[in-house]
Amino acid sequence: MGSQEQPKIKIAIVGGGIAGLALGAGLAKKPHVDFHIYESVPEYKDVGAGLALHMNAIKAMTLIGPEVRQAYFDKALEMGEEDQEMSTEVILAQGPHQGTMVAELGKAKGRKTVSRADLLDGLLELVPKRCITFGKRLDKIESNDTISTITFRDGSTAQADCILGSDGIHSTTRRYILGPDHPATEPVNHEGWQIYRTMVSAEYAREHINPKWTQTVPILLGPRGHVNCIPLNKGTRLSAGVAVRGAKFAEGGQAPDLDPELYKDYSEDAQKIVRMVAKDTSASWTAADHDHAPVYYRGRVAMFGDAAHASMPFAGNGAAQALEDAAVLDLLFGKTTDVNQIEAAFDAYDRARRPRSQAVVDLARKFGRVYAYAEPSVPAEDPVKMKQFFGGMAAMTNNFDLGKQDEDALGFYEEALGKKSTGVGEVKGPDVGKVEGQKLPPPLT
Ligand SMILES: Cc1cc2nc3c(=O)[nH]c(=O)nc-3n(C[C@H](O)[C@H](O)[C@H](O)COP(=O)(O)OP(=O)(O)OC[C@H]3O[C@@H](n4cnc5c(N)ncnc54)[C@H](O)[C@@H]3O)c2cc1C
Repeated sequence: MGSQEQPKIKIAIVGGGIAGLALGAGLAKKPHVDFHIYESVPEYKDVGAGLALHMNAIKAMTLIGPEVRQAYFDKALEMGEEDQEMSTEVILAQGPHQGTMVAELGKAKGRKTVSRADLLDGLLELVPKRCITFGKRLDKIESNDTISTITFRDGSTAQADCILGSDGIHSTTRRYILGPDHPATEPVNHEGWQIYRTMVSAEYAREHINPKWTQTVPILLGPRGHVNCIPLNKGTRLSAGVAVRGAKFAEGGQAPDLDPELYKDYSEDAQKIVRMVAKDTSASWTAADHDHAPVYYRGRVAMFGDAAHASMPFAGNGAAQALEDAAVLDLLFGKTTDVNQIEAAFDAYDRARRPRSQAVVDLARKFGRVYAYAEPSVPAEDPVKMKQFFGGMAAMTNNFDLGKQDEDALGFYEEALGKKSTGVGEVKGPDVGKVEGQKLPPPLT
């Protein structure tokens, strides 16, 4: 905590999504920090994403504070009885092993799902009203060694000692940090993913599909798309979708219609879901993610959450990674009491979080290929190999040691502070143009 004479550290958080609000909930408890969240939308709307938060997300929320975890539990829908173990069931829906379950992802007692809008409402209650302004869209960042200025679309400006951008996949902060022409700046969709999605009442869904799938999170696999359902809003609504790899987009980028005829060799349960989705695909979207950024900060401007490492939704761990970022930044800003320590905190955050969060981006791509029977190293003809793959990957996301990640971050922070105080090297962040030689995540096997 800062001494009485020491001015508070002024932080501007751009983007009040899951990452920004979770960090805000943590910073609200730090008397030496004066933060403000600038969110572009006037109010949150349900964009249709239902989230199943894995164990690493719950651990990250707990690290920020038990009230953050509680906010999630208060808003989430229990998938089964409180002491019953539940999971995302991954089942082969096509081919000779049709019906075989190859994974139970995120298995936990009292497992829950939550709609993004409900989770945001819960987190928002933990952020003092005076610390957030809605309807403020970041347009431009200017930053030097002492002051960072943000200009909003409405022409107004704000100043802070540093900027933390959690402004999502199309991040303006990312464009500032990497530069507009860097190959990793804009989102990409290398494998042509289109997500057909519908939102219906649970009652309607029970009339059209196996009622079992209105209460759990199934992923039904096959080569022309995987099918899934997520119960939302305490079981009253259902988000159901078909994710297609290699969609043939029209020249203007328009996706083809979802054709249930193409799924005739899928299981009857999967076909029923496809038919229900095809009736109304208005909640559909084209998926995208980020190629690896060589750095997550530049001077006193850093990015976190999807802004730093948007991933395909297939490993179900994007929000969890955003929460892990928030937990590490919250920890580091607990130690950072002087503006001259900010870049050391960003350096430590970058080193602690970049390799893992980018490995999860790669993992989500690989999940997508496995779901589409398109990953040669994990063939659908070999369900045992599939089980081994999912088991190993769950250990990487779900059972990750967040305490160790915190320890590492603090070690990196001390190292960075040491460099600064001895003048051995200035902490400025790696050169964004120099991708080669950067520490990249280990290859996934
Ligand atoms: C269909 C789907 C299913 C998913 N399922 C899961 C799941 O089961 N589990 C999981 O862990 N993850 C899941 N994810 C991923 C998860 O939703 C994201 O990783 C998570 O929302 C990232 O949070 P964020 O705060 O970084 O970004 P966002 O949630 O995108 O928030 C960014 C915020 O910044 C604001 N903003 C944008 N631009 C500006 C600007 N210029 N100025 C000011 N504000 C701005 C936006 O309005 C928004 O509120 C899923 C994603 C999708 C699409």
